[in-house]
Order: sequence, then C-alpha cells, then structure tokens
Amino acid sequence: MSRCLSDRSIDHVVLERGEVANAWRTERWDSLRLLTPNWQCRLPGSPYGGDDPDGFMTASEVVDVMAQYAKAVAAPVHTGTTVTSVRRADDGYLVVTDQGEWRCETVVLASGAFNVPRVPEFASALPPSVATRTTMTYHNPHELDDGGVLVVGASASGVQIAHEIQRSGRPVTVAVGEHVRGPRMYRGRDIHWWMHAAGVLDERYDEVDDIVRARRVPSMQIAGSPDRATFDLNALTGIGVQLVGKFAAVSGTRAQFSGSLRNKCALADLKLGRLLDTIDEWAITSGLDDSVPPPHRFEPTRVPEPPRLGLDLAGGEIRTIIWATGYRPDYSWLDVDVLDAKSMVRHDGGVAESPGMYVIGMPFLRRRKSSFIDGACDDAQDLAGHLAAFLDGRAASAR
Ligand SMILES: Cc1cc2nc3c(=O)[nH]c(=O)nc-3n(C[C@H](O)[C@H](O)[C@H](O)COP(=O)(O)OP(=O)(O)OC[C@H]3O[C@@H](n4cnc5c(N)ncnc54)[C@H](O)[C@@H]3O)c2cc1C
Repeated sequence: MSRCLSDRSIDHVVLERGEVANAWRTERWDSLRLLTPNWQCRLPGSPYGGDDPDGFMTASEVVDVMAQYAKAVAAPVHTGTTVTSVRRADDGYLVVTDQGEWRCETVVLASGAFNVPRVPEFASALPPSVATRTTMTYHNPHELDDGGVLVVGASASGVQIAHEIQRSGRPVTVAVGEHVRGPRMYRGRDIHWWMHAAGVLDERYDEVDDIVRARRVPSMQIAGSPDRATFDLNALTGIGVQLVGKFAAVSGTRAQFSGSLRNKCALADLKLGRLLDTIDEWAITSGLDDSVPPPHRFEPTRVPEPPRLGLDLAGGEIRTIIWATGYRPDYSWLDVDVLDAKSMVRHDGGVAESPGMYVIGMPFLRRRKSSFIDGACDDAQDLAGHLAAFLDGRAASAR
C-alpha cells in the first residue's frame, strides 16, 4: 500500500509495532514455509527475482524479502510504534501511538487478519494435566511433552503441525471440522499454478454468490515442502494419524467430538472434484489439455468407521492439545464505529464504512487471493486509487 501511495505522491507514514514483517518474525512455527510458490511472492513493481520460482520460502526468507522491499521502495516505516487508538477527529482521524500522535485525513488498516488465535470458549474447561498451545505459541515437536497430541483443526496449519508431530514419534489425533482438501500437484503442475492460471484466485468479491461465507472458507490443506508432498487427510492417516470429528465440547474430563466427520470429508472430496473440474475445463479452453498429463481424480478421504466420539483427557492418552482453529484480527485499538457484531470491519471491497478509512490484507477482501502476499498488489492498487479520488474530492469541495 505504501508503494502504491508513493506512486501517487500521497504523503503517508507506516506505523509498525515491531519490525517490518513482524508476524513472520515472531508468530510462525520453526519449520513453516510459504504454501504459495515463490513466484507468487510478487509485490507492487517487484516480481519474484530469485532463482527458485517453484520453491517455497522459509519464514526467515519471507522476512528478508519484505525487509528488502520496504528499503527498495523507501517505505516511510516507523518501527517500534504501537497504535493504541484510532478515532474520528475533525474531518479525519486522530491516531494515538506509544510514540506520539498523528492526525490524518485517511487511514489504511493493514494490521493483519491473523492477529489472535481463535480458541473455543470450552478450552477453559480442559483438565490441567493437558498442556495447550496455539499455532502461534507452538514452535516444534521437541518442545512438547512425550505422549499423545490432539491437534484441533485440519486446515493448512493443523495438517502441517500434525504431520511433523506424528513424525517426531508422538501419536497424533486430529479433530476435523470443515476443511478444504487440495493436492500439491495436479496434472504435472502445482495446484496454485492451476488456480492462478484458471482465474480461480482472481475471482472478485462482487462476483461470488455469498461473500460472507466465502470470507470464512478455511485455508486449503497444503504445505510448501521441498518434496512437493500432499498434506491431505489420507496423507496423515497414511503415517498413522487418527481422525476424529470436530472438537465440540468438554464434559467433565471428557472431550466430545462431532459425529459429522464422514459428512465433512465427503463434502471436502466433492468440492475438490469441483475445483479439478474447473481446472480441467480451463485446460481445454486454453488449449493446454494435450500438453499436460490427463485428468484424474483422487481416492476419497478414508474415514474411520465408526468414528470415535469421545476421549478421556484425564486418561493420559493426550498430553498436549494444539489449537489450529484459525485466527481473527485484533481491533481492540480501533475507536471508530465500523466493527460488526463479530468485531470485523464493515467494508465494501476494502472501503470501510467510515469516510477515508480502508482495510487491506483480509480474506477475500476484493479477490479470492486477497489474504495472500500475491493478493496485496491488485488490492493495494485499487484501494490507493479510491483513496486518491477521496482526497481529490475533499480538496475540490474545500475550494
Ligand atoms: C500460519 C500462516 C501461514 C501463512 N502462509 C502464507 C503463504 O504461504 N503465502 C501467503 O501469501 N500468505 C500466507 N499467509 C498469510 C500472510 O500472513 C499474509 O499473506 C501476509 O503476512 C499478510 O500481510 P499483512 O501485512 O496484511 O499482515 P501481517 O503480516 O499480519 O502484518 C500486520 C502488521 O501489523 C502490525 N500491527 C498489528 N497491530 C498493530 C498496532 N496496533 N500498531 C502497530 N502495528 C500493528 C503487526 O505487528 C504486523 O507486522 C499465512 C498466514 C499465516 C497465519
């Protein structure tokens, strides 16, 4: 966004409580690599310039890319500056930080979509003998006690963490709710290559039937491992991971799991089939069909029969629970009436319901790719254009 504002000669500052790429420095587990291929690390005016476009960056490589980019575009970043309040003042906003105050006509909320782990309320009823972590406080399997681990959530974070813990010798059970199944490779190409090429990632927020639902869709079960392995539930059960349904409640010392595991898996299989249909249709219309391996479908998800519906957490089978149940943004510092009942900013494609306020970096903000690094470019250009027009309109009416 800073680069796009500079392109339009719009005077601005970027306030950051940590260092550039703070979340990638401080909130990721040790082995995490981007699940998007390196070529998708494009930023405004800066295509991927490395020698491994199909590889997957480590978190520290992401930090380097972001830090170099901030320098290259001379982004006016004030690091170590925590915003503690934003409120309406006169015709603009008063931004209070721990380093002083700013007055501005417009504000862009770029504070991230993944600030706080979403942990269900019943977590407070867990027996004290079970240690708990979130994807933000988990670093690697070796810091965990020996013994069984329950990973709650089967999206990208959950399946990656379950995989490496099972490999460390600790038996893993994964509680599976709604999820999006994906193979890493299909017909000889990366699934992200296909989704980009077929236009799936460019689908716009005003083109989908139910944008509220589309914004809640969990991340696809993929990982950026150097061997390009698939991380779906069949891959997990293939190495001995146990599956149970969604973690629904705690009763006494007993964990209760939903009986919907089979249905959730069948739905994910069905949706994967639809995605592959879209890809196959695009391969035909684009003339690529004959030059790539033929279409094929993946084995349905194998589900235990009958699935386990409960587990005694005081029995010693589970020593650690890891909540991989997603994240939410933190707007505790936003003192503007622009949040909905779920504490999300009310906005139309990033234009917030408060004059001169914008939000960027949210799932499906303007396009399906909006929460990816690669999505920031188009969104920032669109929103910088809107912001410039807003300032022009202000200036014209002041004349
Ligand atoms: C586990 C995980 C894996 C991911 N993997 C990928 C991937 O493979 N590929 C991909 O493209 N995307 C991935 N993402 C999404 C990724 O986080 C985003 O693409 C990217 O980091 C979003 O950048 P952002 O600047 O919008 O938000 P963030 O990176 O979250 O940055 C927001 C910044 O705002 C700062 N901030 C917050 N509140 C305040 C405040 N009050 N005052 C001052 N500063 C504040 C934070 O310190 C932070 O630096 C992943 C996300 C997670 C959680």
